[in-house]
Amino acid sequence: MDYDTLRKQMVENQIISRGISDERVISAMLKVPRHLFVSENQRHEAYNDYPLPIGEDQTISQPYMVALMTELMCLDGDEKVLEIGTGSGYQTAILAELAKEVYTVEIIESLSMNAKHILNELGYKNIKFRVGDGYNGWKEYAPFDDIIVTCGPTDIPQPLIDQLGEGGKLVIPVGYSFQTLTILEKINGELRKTESIECRFVPMTRKYNFN
Ligand code: SAH
Repeated sequence: MDYDTLRKQMVENQIISRGISDERVISAMLKVPRHLFVSENQRHEAYNDYPLPIGEDQTISQPYMVALMTELMCLDGDEKVLEIGTGSGYQTAILAELAKEVYTVEIIESLSMNAKHILNELGYKNIKFRVGDGYNGWKEYAPFDDIIVTCGPTDIPQPLIDQLGEGGKLVIPVGYSFQTLTILEKINGELRKTESIECRFVPMTRKYNFN
């Protein structure tokens, strides 16, 4: 398999053609080897235009969704970001390419361990991992310049709003079953909400509360 060619085609046909224009986002999508974030028997599908299962009933997000959410964060390289829903760690890698520090929280321990393993192998040094309920954010390191949530809660968790820094953006799918990709900005202490496309993420679970 020529993964480099597949990755270039993915970026051309799924990312740029749908309107993603942030050069830094495009470079990161061209660089990160997405096929290493799925199991060996799925690698041939890693650059296709859909999410894939990663075990534990969870999925790695569709490439376009990763690019869109990342572009909406408007990262320029010096941010400290919080990610809720580490999953495969693919979105985490994209964030690690584009921000200064990434704090990522995953509720399923085995997924967090796998993601940590591959991200360490790839040499990322600016990521901190936590196993726990991301509804509560990661208070110890707050405030964050930007926050991204890759599982769908029915309402925006108040702890995430509280941990968002001034001028920061929270990018989050909100809704039951289907969600609306929502962007919450904190400007002079006030919240400004805008909505992007409809999307479908796995639900934010609250089953285990480690916090
Ligand atoms: N960005 C990931 C998406 C994984 S799917 C990727 O592209 O691979 C969403 C992830 O959110 C799943 O791994 C799921 O276990 C996790 N999740 C669900 N509820 C959560 C919660 N309350 N806190 C932290 N992670 C949660």
